[in-house]
Amino acid sequence: RIAYVNGRYLPHAAAGLSIDDRAVLFADSVYEVCEVKAGRIVDVRLHLDRLARSLAAIGMPWPLGRPALARILVEVAARNRVRDGLVYLQVSRGAARRDFYFPAPDVAPSLVVTARSVDRAAAEAVAAEGINVVTMPDNRWERVDIKTTGLLPNVLAKEAARSRGGREAWFVDADGLITEGGSSNAWIVTQAGVVRTRPAEQGILRGVTRTTLLKLIEEEGLALEERPFNVDEAYAAKEAFNTAATALVMPVVRINGRPIGAGRPGPLATRLRRDIHDVAEFTDIH
Ligand code: PLP
Repeated sequence: RIAYVNGRYLPHAAAGLSIDDRAVLFADSVYEVCEVKAGRIVDVRLHLDRLARSLAAIGMPWPLGRPALARILVEVAARNRVRDGLVYLQVSRGAARRDFYFPAPDVAPSLVVTARSVDRAAAEAVAAEGINVVTMPDNRWERVDIKTTGLLPNVLAKEAARSRGGREAWFVDADGLITEGGSSNAWIVTQAGVVRTRPAEQGILRGVTRTTLLKLIEEEGLALEERPFNVDEAYAAKEAFNTAATALVMPVVRINGRPIGAGRPGPLATRLRRDIHDVAEFTDIH
């Protein structure tokens, strides 16, 4: 595999960040993960829009301009011959002697881009079954709207979920309301057929897949409510699902082992999974 690191394309084994890099020391870094489908990168513009918000939120400059970044995403996907997979981009505040304050004078930010293929057939097999999610207390910080690599709470929650037979964790806030998944946004379809998800302004990451799905839901004229829901409302739902660039629309068929609806992927989740790319934007890998 070939990675881009600070201006160079290198095999992973030869690529690396300094042990003084602030991504290593402080997770003083933000990232994006884009889906690659059939030789095209999905929703690059929305990912770079969100990167802009993350960078601004932590007072970090752009490592390169947007067009240059988009070209590197394409180049890394191409060099790794990815047709179906993921492109990962990470920007950190750079390498400097360990000190909490921002480096002065400024150091160059570090930019890393990697890409890998995913087994689409295996992913479709998982989606056809649907997944179990396990609820966990949301013990993260308040700025989960920033897509930072500081993901230790997510790592621990997802691992705890897995040890209990879940493929994803659903975080629950102090009011008993579900915030989002460990690496996905959470949705239900109520018995009345209303699609419901938490507003992006309240304790979640604004997922690109969430944004794209909202576009599809609007185009299809489906009933939508951006309002938080609690665990009991989720248990009582007709359907449940997650969204993420790494999982698209992933049917949730059990929550803490309790079947949701018929205990099988719901018709709406299945249809939204099939159609989500209808409203996405594509960048060719050449
Ligand atoms: N929420 C969290 C905490 C995430 O880590 C992710 C993606 O990794 C998402 C939501 C979904 O975001 P996206 O659809 O942009 O992949």
